[in-house]
Amino acid sequence: METNKAVSGVWIFGDYRKYFQNRVTLQLIAKGKDLAEKLGAEVTVLVLGYQVHQYVMEYVAHGADTVIVVDHPDLEDYQVETYTSMIARWVEAFQPEIFLAGATSFGREFFPRLAKRLNTGLSADCVALEVDPETRLLLQTTPAFGGELLAEVVTPKHRPQMATVHPGVFQERPHDHEAVGRILYPEIDILPEERIKLLRSRRQQTEKYNLEDAKVVIAGGMGLGSREEFELLFDLADLLEGEVGATRPAIRAEWVEEERLLGQTGKSVKPTILITIGTSGALQYTTGIQGAETIVAINRDSNAPIFKMADLGLVGDATTILPLLIETLRKRL
Ligand SMILES: Cc1cc2nc3c(=O)[nH]c(=O)nc-3n(C[C@H](O)[C@H](O)[C@H](O)COP(=O)(O)OP(=O)(O)OC[C@H]3O[C@@H](n4cnc5c(N)ncnc54)[C@H](O)[C@@H]3O)c2cc1C
Repeated sequence: METNKAVSGVWIFGDYRKYFQNRVTLQLIAKGKDLAEKLGAEVTVLVLGYQVHQYVMEYVAHGADTVIVVDHPDLEDYQVETYTSMIARWVEAFQPEIFLAGATSFGREFFPRLAKRLNTGLSADCVALEVDPETRLLLQTTPAFGGELLAEVVTPKHRPQMATVHPGVFQERPHDHEAVGRILYPEIDILPEERIKLLRSRRQQTEKYNLEDAKVVIAGGMGLGSREEFELLFDLADLLEGEVGATRPAIRAEWVEEERLLGQTGKSVKPTILITIGTSGALQYTTGIQGAETIVAINRDSNAPIFKMADLGLVGDATTILPLLIETLRKRL
């Protein structure tokens, strides 16, 4: 990586993962442009990922002078360690004066780590940014003391000067079809310690453990046999926009968090539909699910007590039925 003075001015992190909902990168490009003009510098967007070319022209159309595209199959899934390490190396190579990122969950996670790695400061959640053209210092206005005061922070000795900014603080520029920018596709060397393989990811529930109000509950018990099988319940719940619950033994086996316990010593639910899989139907459990409008039970033992309260029963192996159910729903929904 060779240092290129044309791209050492104001850097913006290209946060495209929530691109359509959250246009913070475009807003930061607009602000970065304003700061860069005062410094006689340029705006560069650094974007990491795989097959991210579609965003590049969008960044140029919104004011980026340069876009550095670090595109590699290993970067398809965001990994905080990999991203921090790689970005630190790009920053060290190009030495930007200023580096800005959105105060999204993404930016909030890796930007502080990056600042530490680069031995520089970081102002979080800035509400205003300015530059002093004489000293070239970035004036970072950020709420302090729980928002009671606004503090103006500068980073006089270390570079880059880093800040995160909330979406919506700055206005993006209008899309300019005729804008021209430099696009760099540098050669990428991923270090062995940066090669972390993501085996599985799961959507985080926004309203955590909203079991009591859920319209669909997928509940699992010991009949699922392992944590891996139990995790399939989350796939089913995702497809049906439901929540996952569990019996006490499944909690004891540490397949899932205690907050998902259903029953006498756990939560009581009243969904429109509850699918209970690999659960015997012990009274202490059924106490928690009796408020469900419709109960579908899956158990390989046709004599399992759960069938007595089920509206619909499927006798069979849950580890066969569950993947089939998920696959069928995926095709239909
Ligand atoms: C004071 C007290 C309070 C309790 N409070 C609670 C509570 O709040 N909540 C709670 O859940 N429990 C509670 N319990 C425990 C409760 O009595 C039961 O032991 C528990 O609910 C059983 O959990 P389970 O159905 O997952 O497991 P099991 O009873 O072991 O049932 C597993 C079921 O899975 C079926 N199965 C096995 N393999 C497969 C397969 N491959 N495919 C399909 N089906 C399969 C089996 O036929 C069986 O019916 C309490 C117990 C006590 C004493």
